[in-house]
Amino acid sequence: MADYDFDYFVIGGGSGGVRSARIAAGHGARVGLAEEHRVGGTCVIRGCVPKKLLVIGAHFAEDLVDAERFGWTVGDKNFDWKTLQKNVLAEVERIEGAYHNTLENQDVKIFKARAVLKDAHTLDVGGKTITADKILIATGARPGTFPCEGSELAITSNEVFHLEKLPKSIIIAGGGYIANEFAGIFNELGAKVTLVQRSDKLLRGYDHSMVERLMHISTVKGIEILYNAPFEKIEKTEGGGVKVSLGNGDVREADILLAAIGRPPNTENMGLETVGVKLNDRGAVCIDEDFRTSVDNIYAVGDVTDNVQLTPVAIREGHALADTLFGDEAWRPEYDCIPSAVFSHPPIAAVGMTESEARDQLGGVEVFTSDFRAMKNVLANRNERSLYKLIVDSANGKLVGAHMIGPDAPEIMQSLAIAVKAGLTKKQVDATIAIHPTMAEELVLMR
Ligand code: NDP
Repeated sequence: MADYDFDYFVIGGGSGGVRSARIAAGHGARVGLAEEHRVGGTCVIRGCVPKKLLVIGAHFAEDLVDAERFGWTVGDKNFDWKTLQKNVLAEVERIEGAYHNTLENQDVKIFKARAVLKDAHTLDVGGKTITADKILIATGARPGTFPCEGSELAITSNEVFHLEKLPKSIIIAGGGYIANEFAGIFNELGAKVTLVQRSDKLLRGYDHSMVERLMHISTVKGIEILYNAPFEKIEKTEGGGVKVSLGNGDVREADILLAAIGRPPNTENMGLETVGVKLNDRGAVCIDEDFRTSVDNIYAVGDVTDNVQLTPVAIREGHALADTLFGDEAWRPEYDCIPSAVFSHPPIAAVGMTESEARDQLGGVEVFTSDFRAMKNVLANRNERSLYKLIVDSANGKLVGAHMIGPDAPEIMQSLAIAVKAGLTKKQVDATIAIHPTMAEELVLMR
């Protein structure tokens, strides 16, 4: 083998890259990692982690109101955006530090610089030439922007955590994960929220009953949802806000506009074309089942491949690749039954087939639902109903999908996902005795 500086060089210090680097180093490989921004990547620095903390922080708006029904005198309720922001960003910094320590403890050499491929084994890392036997591209994705006049006036999820003050009103472009999560956050915090979706459907890929229930609850909570409303023009208002003109004829004004319209992969200006790494028509790195790109010694995992844009998937991929390349046992992640959640207010969680997918793909389907009000919501006089749905393949009685909307749905779904992934039958679920009184007991009581 030629004498390279590193056995493995990872470009990108996000979830997939960090996991892969530290597992490879644990197997004895000499590993380098380049990150031009902050170690931790989207999930830790400007995604899942700070978002979830904002979701928790925002939910106190309801909890403090509900507390009075449970006998608590709460008094004046004031919310200070700067306090929440400061604490959230401090937590992000703490986790970033932990990521750094983990890498350094494993002797991964971190380069705080951009890496550009020069040839299949050579990189320019912040002006320094570095060679590596194997290279991993784990550069993730970035917020997309829309092609319409004035689109530069929109902020994205990158900036939303750093707002100087809480907006009184916000227009959110998009109808996916980020749009619905931030619609919930800002609505709970008291802003007037308008969600603008270009098509007639929100949260594509989720079961229609869950999406309908979220739309109903969101609307009752005061979130305005506009459908079939592509952006035509965005202008600045005299007051420093934004005015948007939409294809359905609507015009709306707000303090800020948040674009949450998907995340294209980060594959530009990295020398990928120079070395012949093939990209698909969406600019994502093409890989085979073992994460190998069109160049033999170069691999890619996570969002940059535009396969499944979820942190736990990128982590699993980075881990599998490092074990396969440097460990004793080669393995591949399993992509069936990936559970997921939307941290809206209330959250949605899902695993496996939606009802319409099951009806399209299977011979016969049985659907079980439970539509109920959580105990806490009943006493709090909160007219917000949960909905659970189990999808069963009539041919063998196996659970093929589970869908939930309601408090703590993602927490409950993680366990239920094991049952769906393991191919358990509805009969086996029914044989399990309930934990009473819980919301989750509904799952074993659906007949
Ligand atoms: P999503 O893919 O979830 O949704 C994109 C939304 O933007 C869709 O509603 C889409 O409409 C709309 N859209 C796309 N292009 C345009 C355009 N040019 N103009 C107007 N609207 C447009 O993207 P997000 O940005 O919300 O999130 C990106 C990814 O990050 C997600 O796919 C997810 O994988 C991940 N993520 C996961 C989270 C979680 O696990 N809880 C949280 C946040 C992000 P249409 O439906 O018509 O195509």
